[in-house]
Amino acid sequence: MAPMAMTPESSGTTTPTTTASKLTEAGMKHASPTANGHASKLSPLDASLMTVELSKAPRSVPAPDSEETKAQKTCTDHMATARWTQEHGWEAPQLRPYGPLEIMPTASVLHYAVECFEGLKLYRGYDGKLRLFRVSRNCERMRRSAARIALPDFEPKELERMIVALCARDGAKWLPKERAGGFLYIRPTMIATDPALGVQRPREALLYVILACFPDMSKSLATPAPPAMQGQANGASNNSGLRLLASKEDTIRAWPGGFGYAKVGANYGPTLVAQGEAKARGFDQVLWLFDKEAYVTEAGASNFFVVMREPTSNKLQLITAPLEERIILEGITRASIIELVKERLSGTHSDLEAVEMVERRFTMSEVIDAAKDGRLVEAFAAGTAFFVAPVSLIHFRDKDLDVPMDGDSGKYARLIKKWLVDIMYGNVSHEWGVVVPEQQ
Ligand code: PLP
Repeated sequence: MAPMAMTPESSGTTTPTTTASKLTEAGMKHASPTANGHASKLSPLDASLMTVELSKAPRSVPAPDSEETKAQKTCTDHMATARWTQEHGWEAPQLRPYGPLEIMPTASVLHYAVECFEGLKLYRGYDGKLRLFRVSRNCERMRRSAARIALPDFEPKELERMIVALCARDGAKWLPKERAGGFLYIRPTMIATDPALGVQRPREALLYVILACFPDMSKSLATPAPPAMQGQANGASNNSGLRLLASKEDTIRAWPGGFGYAKVGANYGPTLVAQGEAKARGFDQVLWLFDKEAYVTEAGASNFFVVMREPTSNKLQLITAPLEERIILEGITRASIIELVKERLSGTHSDLEAVEMVERRFTMSEVIDAAKDGRLVEAFAAGTAFFVAPVSLIHFRDKDLDVPMDGDSGKYARLIKKWLVDIMYGNVSHEWGVVVPEQQ
């Protein structure tokens, strides 16, 4: 039976009531295995039925900074899988050796991008324990993404149990206690596997979870500008913040009525051309703008935050794009920052001025005006991969906008990052840190 990790946060009752989640409810009902009149015959996803087949060819663990780790190709010894069919619902999940999947060339994931995924990390704490961060949120978001792309419904708690079982099995070997401060990247994925070319709701699907060795991308954010670009307007300054290239009007990541709020593969492939251009010009990521007004939405695959002084009240505000239009992903890091800032920074925090947390539309012109008036304090991107990443420059319509930094980070980004590190790596005890039991 799958090991369990339980906290108040992971008790399966914490779905945030956002507009995005309300709007996908209908989709989830439709995708549910109980929604087509065969309720009694269809099996729900049930991690307690998980069978275990251990690998007979265990592999060696690469060093954290090795080329192998940087290549992001190495996964741990096992994976967790569960097959779904329209006729029977979910089959018993399997924990089995990591290896190739067998799907037919007609599988609809290969033609119509019928897939969704998640990204989270397994952390080796400074107290020696393995932890997940708010894993129940990822499982709930995966359920919403599945609903958007016509993949089958499941109980998020059962996916959480599959993730915990895999982490418990491979964590001790692949994230040994000597590697305190290290992590593995967890990739839950669901693909439509039915071997039929018709453009239709899938009748077969595969849910799987893999654990990958990933480099610490928050350490290597500022890619040096290519030699040809150094010292030029487009090349960037030498401090360590992210340098962002603002998207042009003809390149939009997400739009109202689309699927930008869902973690579906179809949101990522089409951004690679813009991302490649940004890299070639010496920038780290694309700052995704929307509409003629140039609303600021996200930075790369991260949410974006800016600290600015409000011109009338003169109060400091931490501003991020809202969820209502469903053109940004509801990041778990974003949600955590919003909660922590409201709780800990609405009054004065030691030597930092209080900030008001604001979720609203804001434009590049507002950011530029704030910079001109000396009201722009700092900006940062936030997400699982790049963590809390200070921004030092935004290139918008042929001009560089320098974003203030305090050394290698803004002061608010530095403090928020420390709060999150402390929870993820067990420096403080917090309900968001879900301890994983280890199997030796
Ligand atoms: N925005 C996009 C488009 C993303 O892909 C991600 C990463 O999953 C995020 C934001 C940040 O989300 P999270 O904090 O859950 O990693």
